[in-house]
Amino acid sequence: MSYDNDNIFAKILRGEIPSTRVYEDEETLVFMDIMPRADGHCLVIPKTPCRNILDAAPGQMNACMATVQKIARAVREAFDAEGVTIQQFNEAAGGQEVFHLHFHVLPRREGESLRPPG
Ligand code: IMP
Repeated sequence: MSYDNDNIFAKILRGEIPSTRVYEDEETLVFMDIMPRADGHCLVIPKTPCRNILDAAPGQMNACMATVQKIARAVREAFDAEGVTIQQFNEAAGGQEVFHLHFHVLPRREGESLRPPG
């Protein structure tokens, strides 16, 4: 499957639409999810074009995973979370809605369910 340069996260990367950025390095960007399913729900993306895991180069995966770990630790601290859920979807049949690779980082507390999407 091809990469669409006009997907929402590509526009966020180019600064064409606003986002609440919380972290960035040379290879990755992290911003808050616009429809948070938990307080502190954020998204980790690679800065280079990549549709999803099925399309990712090892370097993109490595960079994203290093940032996911950093952000998981940071949100655990910032939101006083007891746990952290990482979610990731590939292709429409796999639940993907935005076709730029991304990892959801969701701070969790005992007994609290994730809010429904949307
Ligand atoms: P997924 O592709 O199923 O992982 O869903 C895409 C995710 O992107 C959803 O959690 C949306 O709430 C989130 N999202 C969509 N548009 C924006 C945006 O403009 N800013 C931040 N998050 C967004």
